[in-house]
Amino acid sequence: MADDCLFCKIVAGDVPSTKVYEDEHTIAFQDINPQAPTHVLVVPREHHTDVADVARDPHTAAALLAGVRGFAAQQGLTDFRTVFNTGAGVGQTVFHVHAHVLAGRPFGWPPG
Ligand code: AMP
Ligand code: ZN
Repeated sequence: MADDCLFCKIVAGDVPSTKVYEDEHTIAFQDINPQAPTHVLVVPREHHTDVADVARDPHTAAALLAGVRGFAAQQGLTDFRTVFNTGAGVGQTVFHVHAHVLAGRPFGWPPG
């Protein structure tokens, strides 16, 4: 657990969240400021700062994608968008890697 990491605290249960999925290596919870009818954050239990950092640990990186798949399968979601923000310059605000999983409304491409 990293000091002062919000999502480590959520994983530990020290900060409340609305958990919607969990498995051995990941948990998923509702985003507090949803941008779509379905908007959850899938995070590895282990702390990594961003997608570039977790890519150095292929086991955890694969487990994170398996968590995305597991959540989608549980919800019966076939169409969803997965977003990883990397760096404050594109809006990353929590530096514990997380997959945004969004669904339930039309999404344009390319994203705005
Ligand atoms: P990012 O901008 O990619 O770092 O995403 C961080 C996300 O975490 C944002 O969409 C926030 O709405 C969300 N968020 C921040 N605090 C909480 C919290 N306590 N519980 C759930 N989601 C949160
Ligand atoms: Zn963390």
